[in-house]
Amino acid sequence: DFAPVTRALLSVSDKTGLIELGRALAERGVELLSTGGTARSLREAGLAVRDVAEVTGFPEMMDGRVKTLHPMVHGGLLALRDNADHVAAMETHGIGPIDLLVVSLYPFEDTVARGGDYDACVENIDIGGPAMIRAAAKNHAFVNVVVDVEDYPALLAELDAQDGQTRYAFRQRLAQVAYARTAAYDAAVSSWMADAINEPAPRRRAVAGTLAQTLRYGENPHQAAAFYVDGSDRPGVATARQMQGKELSYNNINDTDAAFELVSEFAPEDGPACAIIKHANPCGVARGATLLEAYKSAFDCDRTSAFGGIIALNQPLDGATAEEIAGIFTEVVIAPGANDDAVSIFAKKKNLRLLLTEGLADPATAGRMIKQVAGGYLVQDKDTGRISADDLRVVTKRAPTDREMSDMLFAWKVAKHVKSNAIVYVKDGATVGVGAGQMSRVDSCRIAARKSQDMAEALGLAAPLTQGSVVASDAFFPFADGLLTAAEAGATAVIHPGGSMRDDEVIAAADEAGLAMVLTGMRHFRH
Ligand code: 5GP
Repeated sequence: DFAPVTRALLSVSDKTGLIELGRALAERGVELLSTGGTARSLREAGLAVRDVAEVTGFPEMMDGRVKTLHPMVHGGLLALRDNADHVAAMETHGIGPIDLLVVSLYPFEDTVARGGDYDACVENIDIGGPAMIRAAAKNHAFVNVVVDVEDYPALLAELDAQDGQTRYAFRQRLAQVAYARTAAYDAAVSSWMADAINEPAPRRRAVAGTLAQTLRYGENPHQAAAFYVDGSDRPGVATARQMQGKELSYNNINDTDAAFELVSEFAPEDGPACAIIKHANPCGVARGATLLEAYKSAFDCDRTSAFGGIIALNQPLDGATAEEIAGIFTEVVIAPGANDDAVSIFAKKKNLRLLLTEGLADPATAGRMIKQVAGGYLVQDKDTGRISADDLRVVTKRAPTDREMSDMLFAWKVAKHVKSNAIVYVKDGATVGVGAGQMSRVDSCRIAARKSQDMAEALGLAAPLTQGSVVASDAFFPFADGLLTAAEAGATAVIHPGGSMRDDEVIAAADEAGLAMVLTGMRHFRH
């Protein structure tokens, strides 16, 4: 069960904590072997180190491509200490056992994230490191393998608690982490290559990710959870700087992502926009002459749901907007920057989390979506579909007015980010009713209209907010009923993909109701 640690091989690209670890091991009587740069660092700190080159009898060569790939190293890592044949082979060939391997791999993921060119990325694919990690992890019956600076203290604590040895269960845990590291590393290489060669089909993709945060819990308190990042530098929840507030929760991260991806549909040069999200669906999205106006209009769509919401802005947060947002309970605000005023106003709201990004996410950038099902994963391209006025086909006798057209394009962008069946009513650049996640489209139409009616009553308005609105549907209307519900609620124009068997019936109903209708020919299911 116990295995002594007498010889260690240290080969690390990330030299964080290296000297302290080297010194701590030396003090515990562990002999140190090391590769070029690592050995140099240890020596400069006054520690005694043997070069791997001396052990192998070969110099490091080919720009470091070949350093540790040698039986003197791999034999020392892989030999079973309790197997007579293995021990004899070690003796015959003068191979010394290596009981501890500490490796941090070439920074491949960082090189990609920093925008390194193709050759730089290739040169940063570590070969000897993963080979040693996998060898040491396989031989966890005897060998310890550490691949993460965060595990240095635990290793030293184990050595101290076990009198210079480690327990089997401890080594098993290290091995499990080691294989997670090499798997993620190769997945990162494969994903980068798929992008680099523009491999369009999301087939045979490995899922890459590094642990960014162990979450307090998942969607519910009895579910353990963690947040992994894929190394992309895309502005968003994974790369944002958190200025204040508690740690983000699982649901916060999910909702903040939904909010920011939605608001990123609205280019800053087209004016301020705001999205308020609850349970991954928007409960208000609006444009405005100012950010404050955009926020207020978004809030007015559904004030009840906006409570405890997550807010995304497409422009840097200013003082006036911050003041208004601070007036009600909000979980998270994410924006591409904030001025000093805004930051000091939020500073008084200790629980409010403020996340700042470097600009907006480009909705046209390709990406992959992964969803788990029992027994597997579904992988698909991210929905980057976008349309402009030129892509629309008017199918009714009445053509939409300019105002209707502008609101329909706005509604369509929002509908893309609403769970299906999605129905979005918009008036004057603001949502006035959102129906999400219903199993029947007509229900989404009704719910959105009814919520809008409730809101009008709460605001003391004579007519529902949907009066004179336009409506977007993420998929075609299978029957005329949904459309007629929207017309009853006061919608005057409709945007949807078309393509139903009953399109003719639906178009006739639209004409009868005096609606203008345009078809996008593109669907935006989102589940
Ligand atoms: P050093 O800074 O000590 O010169 O190099 C440490 C790095 O080299 C570590 O990231 C380790 O994984 C990597 N490494 C160790 N042996 C080999 C090898 O044989 N080939 C390659 N390509 N990398 C290696």
